[in-house]
Amino acid sequence: MKKIEEYVRSIPDFPEPGIIFRDVTSILQDADGLKLAIDSMQDCLKDVDVDVIVGTESRGFIFGMPIAYNLHKPFVPVRKKGKLPCETISASYDLEYGKAEIEIHKDAIKPGQKVVIIDDLIATGGTVEAAAKLIEQLGGEVVKIVFLMELAGLEGRKKLEKYDVASVIRYE
Ligand code: IMP
Repeated sequence: MKKIEEYVRSIPDFPEPGIIFRDVTSILQDADGLKLAIDSMQDCLKDVDVDVIVGTESRGFIFGMPIAYNLHKPFVPVRKKGKLPCETISASYDLEYGKAEIEIHKDAIKPGQKVVIIDDLIATGGTVEAAAKLIEQLGGEVVKIVFLMELAGLEGRKKLEKYDVASVIRYE
């Protein structure tokens, strides 16, 4: 059986010179790769008591949704600004390349709910740090954060120090 790392395609100088982009589409386009990715991420939640799964746009949706479905839990999307139709709260943050603003529906998390955040990759940690702040603003408790891939050299974990963070594949 192939290891999950073997399904990842690495593209040098995308989207900017000097960046090695870790492509998840090469995992998803293989049925075994897709299953291995979801199962490996879900394994990180074996002993976690969770009420809601949150995924960040857009690859957090790809990996978060099947995990929510498998665990029979609700899924809440954190979206880029201007996409959600009802009342939202928002947060701005710096990206590895650029700036961004994300939003969540105000009624999506109830005070006291235990929340797991799922995303494909941690680079600087800015995206998920902002998502965690939104969840906490609504009274939720972030009990675990799961990534498929971690770019360890960017030290994104430092931003998420107070959380329980897991990643399946680590790149130095
Ligand atoms: P961060 O906020 O700096 O941790 O950046 C993480 C976000 O940027 C994730 O949502 C990723 O989808 C995206 N991202 C950054 N670098 C890569 C990469 O090499 N491959 C895939 N996605 C990336």
